[in-house]
Parts: sequence; C-alpha cells; structure tokens
Amino acid sequence: LSDRLTSVFSSLRSRGRLSEADIDATCREIRIALLEADVALPVVKAFIARVKERARGAEVSQALNPAQQVVKIVHDELIEVLGGETRRIRFAKTPPTVIMLAGLQGAGKTTLAGKLAKWLRDQGHAPLLVACDLQRPNAVQQLTVLAERAGVAIFAPEPGNGVGDPVAVARQSIDHAKRKQYDVVIVDTAGRLGIDEEMMRQAADIRDAINPDEVLFVLDAMIGQDAVNTARAFMEGVGFDGVVLTKLDGDARGGAALSVRQITGRPIMFASTGEKLEDFDVFHPDRMASRILDMGDILTLIEQAQRTFDEREAAKMADKLASGESFTLDDFLEQMMMVRRLGPIKNLLAMMPGIGQFRDQLNQIDDRDLDRIAAIIRSMTPEERRDPRIINGSRRARIARGSGVSVSAVNNLVVRFLEWQKMMKRMTQGMGFPGMPGGRK
Ligand code: GDP
Ligand code: MG
Repeated sequence: LSDRLTSVFSSLRSRGRLSEADIDATCREIRIALLEADVALPVVKAFIARVKERARGAEVSQALNPAQQVVKIVHDELIEVLGGETRRIRFAKTPPTVIMLAGLQGAGKTTLAGKLAKWLRDQGHAPLLVACDLQRPNAVQQLTVLAERAGVAIFAPEPGNGVGDPVAVARQSIDHAKRKQYDVVIVDTAGRLGIDEEMMRQAADIRDAINPDEVLFVLDAMIGQDAVNTARAFMEGVGFDGVVLTKLDGDARGGAALSVRQITGRPIMFASTGEKLEDFDVFHPDRMASRILDMGDILTLIEQAQRTFDEREAAKMADKLASGESFTLDDFLEQMMMVRRLGPIKNLLAMMPGIGQFRDQLNQIDDRDLDRIAAIIRSMTPEERRDPRIINGSRRARIARGSGVSVSAVNNLVVRFLEWQKMMKRMTQGMGFPGMPGGRK
C-alpha cells in the first residue's frame, strides 16, 4: 500500500491545486491498494466515495501542498472510519462488570483473557477469570497458567470432575465473584475452527445466563477477507459490543480492522500484539490508520508543516493583541480552528493535570459545538465579523438560515463574543501579557 500511495502522491507533489483528475487518479490507486490489503469491497467503495467528497469540498490549505492534503484527507477519513476516539470498557454500576469473550478457536481469546485481567489488575481492579472453554482438553490448564502469571484469581470446574457444563460454570462464577467481591468477571469461551451452530448456541446460552456488560469479539487480524463473514456470523449468533484485534504483531495489513468496524458498526477496543501478557493496548485508531497507510514519514511531514503554519498564525495573533487592535470574529474563528486542528477538544483538555475530577463535564463537550460556531461565523458578512454589534434582527435571521441553527444560537454567540472581546481588551490594557512585547509589566 505504502509504495503505491507514495508513488501516486509523489506524482501529485509540487502541482498547484487538486484537480478532479488528480482526485480520481489518486482514488483509483487507493482503491486497488485497499483491496490488496484485504479490505472488503463494499467498505472500499464507501471509503473512496467519502475521500472523494472530502477532497472536492476541501478548502485549499495554506499550510499543506496538494499531495500532503490528499494524504491528510485519506488519513483523517481512515481514523474516522476506524472509530475516531478509543472506546473504553463500560463498567457496570453495581459490580461485578461481566465481560464475555467470543471468537473462533485460535483467535487469541484465552491469551486475551489473561492480558485483559492483568491490565485491569494494574488499574486497581480485582478481576476473576472464568474458564468456560471445557471443550479443548488443555483450555482450563492454559487459563490457569495465565491467571497465575497475571496474578489474578480463576474460577474453573475442579479437574477430574467430569465434563463440565460451561453455562453452569459461567452462572456459578457470577455468584462466586459477588461473594468474593471481584469487580470484573472475564469469561473465556470455547471456539471452533469454523463457524458452527453448536458453538454459536453455546456462546448465546452463556450470554443469556450471565447477561454480560460487554461481549467482546476476538478477531485474528491475519484472517484477511474471512474477517467479514466471521464478524457477521458472530454478530448474528451472539452479538457483540466491541472488537479486539489480535496478532497485530504479524504482518497483517489492517484491512480486517477497517472492514469489521464498518460492517458491524462496533468499535475496535483493544489490540493484541504478541504472546506475552504485556503485548496489549487499547486500540488507537490513529495508529491503525497510519499502519494501513504505512506512510509514517509523510504523516510526520504533514504534522510539521501544519504546526509551523499554526505557530506563525499564533505569533501574528499575539502581535495583534499586543498592538492593542481589537479582536474580530474572524480572529475568533481562526483561533478556534487552530485549536480544533490539534485534535478532539476533549483529548486536549484531558491532558490537563487535575482534569480527572471533571470527567463527566468533559464527556459533554462536543466538537460539533465548535463546528456549529464556525458555521455561524462563516455565514456572516465580513462587515458583521468585524463589528458584530451591527447584527440586528433581520441579519440574525439570515445568519441563522445560512448556518442551519436557531436565531437564538446566533444571538448567543454574538453576546458571548462581545463579552469576550471586552475581556480581551481589559486584559491587554490592564495587566498586559507578561513577556509579550508592548505589554505593560
Ligand atoms: P483461543 O483459541 O481463541 O483461546 O486462542 P489462544 O489464546 O489459545 O491463542 C492461540 C494462539 O495464538 C496461541 O499460541 C497464542 O499464544 C497465540 N496468540 C494469541 N494472541 C496473539 C498475538 O497477539 N500475537 C501473536 N503472535 N500470537 C498470539
Ligand atoms: Mg481458548
């Protein structure tokens, strides 16, 4: 994929604007490349359609050249399809949180159970591993060893106690967890080499017996095009809330990730990258997108170009402030979009120390709010942006229509902006910014 894309993009480099022909040529190549990476055909089609649309609609960037811009669009779109932000485990309000693993034999369920248990234990949870694969002779033993290594408890039928009933074991394990105050129960189940009805029924029976908070579908990333059929079968047979991709340490090209995400609509939550307990992480859509594109160097370049540009813009803004010129809505918009480009606002805020206690509020922040504000400002005339005080009733109505929001939303923004402008003025005239040329110390 990398070689292909690199050659297409290098042929695009140093041209002026992106033409329709450029976009088409690029997309033809991306299409072939994605198919070669084992992405399912309908997924490829939908993906290409969106990239095309975005490439056509994109304002020509001042920070990036056209080649970089196309790469960025493809990359951004990949991240979006792969799920944007990482979804975390939803813990039950009253413990224990029950997590059930499902998937084909050899997918990596049992290994994952151990990894997940260790990961949770490291975060201060008290997980209980439950052995419900009573089909493979060594399965219970395998999980026992993993539990020992992870330093967590295990619930399994007594050895030599005859053939166990996995549904009964699962049910008993929940009571056991409640009694012993384990707060997370991880239920490992049996798989078959192929999809078969008996296995599905057993998994569904276990599910019904324990009513899990999360069913995780464990998928070997190396299985290529089969990923789609397998995921569909499990979706129908058992249903699942999230996906875990395993064996990403191999040379799997990530096509499965894209297909499964798109076709089942379920987020990929974790990634397994080896046989050791530590080879495990939450799934990072951005990393997977980079892996699928395999264009690390170009992506780094793009980031640098963007950052340099933003720094230049920020410096301009600081000069403006220092010279006492007043801030306009254009400046406001520009600042906002600069912040927006740094990533989801939630992630930015989440990096602030001590923010943890505000997690709930943080989760309510919506990047669409920013986009809505941007839309409102863009629907204003240059004159209105310079001096929003001229915005009267009829102007407000026009702006609201143009940006698809209510009149009161427009009003709200204007009022808030005027307050903010006043505050900025007080700051520059009053105390000034320390260390800024022209600011009073
Ligand atoms: P299960 O049948 O779904 O329970 O699969 P297992 O957990 O028993 O794993 C099957 C094989 O794959 C074992 O040999 C594991 O060591 C190996 N395995 C599991 N996850 C990974 C992974 O992320 N990377 C690699 N390289 N091997 C893995
Ligand atoms: Mg197993």
